[in-house]
Amino acid sequence: AEESNMIVAVRVRPLNTLECTRANVSNVVNVHGHNELSVQSGSSADASAGVSHYFSYDQVYYSCDPERKNYADQLAVFAGTAQPLIDTAFDGYNACLFAYGQTGSGKSYSMMGIEALDDAALDGNAPHAEAGIIPRFCHELFRRIDAVKDQLQVEVEVSYFEIYNEKIHDLLSVQHALTSAAPDTPQHTRQALKVREHPIFGPYVVDLSAHSVDSYSALRNWLAVGNSQRATASTAMNDKSSRSHSIFNIVLNLTDLSSDDGMSSSDTDSGTVTLRQTRRSKISLVDLAGSERISVSGSNGERIREGVSINKSLLTLGKVIAALADTRKAGGSATPSTFVPYRESVLTWLLRENLGGNSKTVMLATISPASLHADETLATLRYACKARSIVNRVKVNESPHD
Ligand code: ADP
Ligand code: MG
Repeated sequence: AEESNMIVAVRVRPLNTLECTRANVSNVVNVHGHNELSVQSGSSADASAGVSHYFSYDQVYYSCDPERKNYADQLAVFAGTAQPLIDTAFDGYNACLFAYGQTGSGKSYSMMGIEALDDAALDGNAPHAEAGIIPRFCHELFRRIDAVKDQLQVEVEVSYFEIYNEKIHDLLSVQHALTSAAPDTPQHTRQALKVREHPIFGPYVVDLSAHSVDSYSALRNWLAVGNSQRATASTAMNDKSSRSHSIFNIVLNLTDLSSDDGMSSSDTDSGTVTLRQTRRSKISLVDLAGSERISVSGSNGERIREGVSINKSLLTLGKVIAALADTRKAGGSATPSTFVPYRESVLTWLLRENLGGNSKTVMLATISPASLHADETLATLRYACKARSIVNRVKVNESPHD
């Protein structure tokens, strides 16, 4: 197994029209090069006015102003964060990318983007210019599958669900899709799914529907089903979209078609040994709930804002990240003193292998550049710093069979 640090990227969205027209709102985020940024905190009335906080990450994406030369569009963010995970998956490793940030900071724009899912007129079904990481990843995945189809047989399965109030709801259940003509059945009244532990593959959602897809257009139909399920549910309950986590999973089963030729000639002489190498990898693309309710302070835990309800999964994610960061500081996995509370929430239990386990993981922290969000922005940036020290032990999920 090789060691791999969690890769942490930060993306700054543009000021929105409301922020631009408010006289007392300014842009307080400055990006320096490709991996540094600074935030000015404190209002002008404040004693700490003009204090600059500097941070560095693996990548920093400046998406504020298309006129600036370092402007990062949807393609640039995809290419820098998610595209390398396609190689990871083809090599048989698990991968995860999750977006973290306050509501309105650009998580969903980055993950899903503005995708003309119903626009069949698009050239070769290519993703829309403003399509986010998920459609781009899926499109590129099938392009790659097509390119290697002589050497590698690839089976693709997708699932899509959300976690709201610690309950898991399938977004691709066929029954739900068929009954979506009657959206008055509130999604939260449906039976919630449970998490269980598989002896080899780890935690999984029991009875979650999984769908085989053999093309990008088949996949994006499922994506459209899930997104409309999500949208229906969140209009029924006001702030649901900001309080739920959505997880899109892609499982690849890879069979090496050329491994027959790859066998040594002494083996083929005997004419009996024809092992086919299969690999399985799982990619999770996650759009988290808004982080504004919770933020990590200091090195030992979390601070909960007064008067707001606790999102248990997000709270536990903070604890898990803090515990893993402390383990690292204490000199690695051999320290039994640090308990990592994966099982305290549905999200962290399901993402266990992606956090400190067998997975290459990318965190995309999204922030607003507006002065009125400076405190949340600083909280997100500190959280992201902590995540950067997490180390995963990744290994290929390989099993030879005949
Ligand atoms: P979140 O999912 O974090 O709550 P959204 O992704 O919904 O936030 O973004 C809030 C608003 O800002 C949306 O209208 C979105 O289209 C816009 N937005 C976010 N990021 C960008 C960006 N990089 N470029 C242009 N518009 C953006
Ligand atoms: Mg969102």
